[in-house]
Amino acid sequence: MDECIFCRIADGRIPAGKVLENDQFVAFRDVNPKAPQHILVIPREHLVSIDDLSAWQHCEGHAFLQFIAEVAREVGVAETGYRVITNIGHDGAQEVQHMHFHLLGGEYLGDLR
Ligand code: AMP
Repeated sequence: MDECIFCRIADGRIPAGKVLENDQFVAFRDVNPKAPQHILVIPREHLVSIDDLSAWQHCEGHAFLQFIAEVAREVGVAETGYRVITNIGHDGAQEVQHMHFHLLGGEYLGDLR
C-alpha cells in the first residue's frame, strides 16, 4: 500500500515518534495527542480495520494485544491504567484506513460518553 501513510510510517519512509516495534507491529506517537500519552499501535501488514476479516488471517491477534500491553509498559502507563480504542468506518470516525489502536493514558481519562 504505497499511498497509505501508516504503511509508510511502518517501513520508515515517513518519520514518526516510534516507541516500540518488532517484525509484526509498530507503535508511534499520535501527532495530535488527546492525552499525555497517546500512542498508535498498528500491524505492519495493511489491514483496514478489525472489520477486515480476511486480512486477520495474516495478523496474530493475540500477539497484537500482547504488543499493546508491552507498549503500555514502555511508556509507563501499565501501573496507572490506560484506554485502548479502535475506530471503524464512517460512524466510528475512522480517518486513516490502516487498522490502528489508540493507547491513551498518563492521566485519569474519565468516562466514555
Ligand atoms: P482515527 O480517527 O482513528 O483514524 O485516527 C487517526 C489518528 O492518526 C489521529 O489521531 C491522527 O492524529 C493520527 N495521525 C494522522 N497522521 C499521523 C502521522 N503522520 N503521525 C502520527 N499520527 C498521525
